[in-house]
Amino acid sequence: MATRVSPMPLVAANWKMNPNDAGDALDLVRGVLSVARGHADRVEVAIFPPFPWLLGVSEVIAESGVKLGAQDCFWELSGAYTGEVSPAMLKGWCEWVITGHSERRIYLGETDEMVAKKTASALGSELSVIMCVGELADHYDAGTSDQVVEAQVRAGLANCSADDSARLVIAYEPVWAIGTGKSADAEHAYKTMRLIRRVVGELIGAGAARKVRILYGGSVNSGNVESYVELPLCDGVLVGSASLDAAEFAHIVKVTAEVYGHR
Ligand code: PEP
Repeated sequence: MATRVSPMPLVAANWKMNPNDAGDALDLVRGVLSVARGHADRVEVAIFPPFPWLLGVSEVIAESGVKLGAQDCFWELSGAYTGEVSPAMLKGWCEWVITGHSERRIYLGETDEMVAKKTASALGSELSVIMCVGELADHYDAGTSDQVVEAQVRAGLANCSADDSARLVIAYEPVWAIGTGKSADAEHAYKTMRLIRRVVGELIGAGAARKVRILYGGSVNSGNVESYVELPLCDGVLVGSASLDAAEFAHIVKVTAEVYGHR
């Protein structure tokens, strides 16, 4: 088996707007801590709780090697933007932020231009970014997934450079696979991730693009995670629903560590 040359895989837990109770949030993170810590030399684990739980979760994971991230940020660093949270506010106790999640694109009308501004601002504030891209079911059915994903990558990275590559992750998340239990087949995921790698290379140069990690997301669970993380171009997974079950998420981390440990 060939030695893996790309960076450490990333397993990211997007809790979305869950759980409603602070105590449950702390129990959830405690539930994955020992497994995540035990595999910290082979898998980077990042937890993305809702904003109100960030502080409590940061205290639980302190010194564990598990990373913390926010699910979104605004592009300005401060000012009259009611309800928004800036990268400058996150910096210092969050290492990561997600931009362009499809639920924000769909429910809050986030455009590619907004995603590009958020991504550049977060990177400029020295946060690491998971920028999400992915086609709708209609695009998939019409066979236009590649065009849609390529356009999102080009637009989303419009303000980025090669200097950002080590802190940039792109999550390929087909929208029809998110929260539906209908995960993409591995071949479709592979072809799209290969396309993303090529486009990123055109934008920031092939050398820098090799440092950019590419994840799959969309109904990942302990039963199907292996089929994604064993793909040569896949640098990990972004997990939504299954990350709300500590045992399930811990299993995903364990499988990822085993697969990458054998490369
Ligand atoms: C997500 O929210 O990014 C996601 C992939 O969700 P799920 O795993 O529930 O499909």
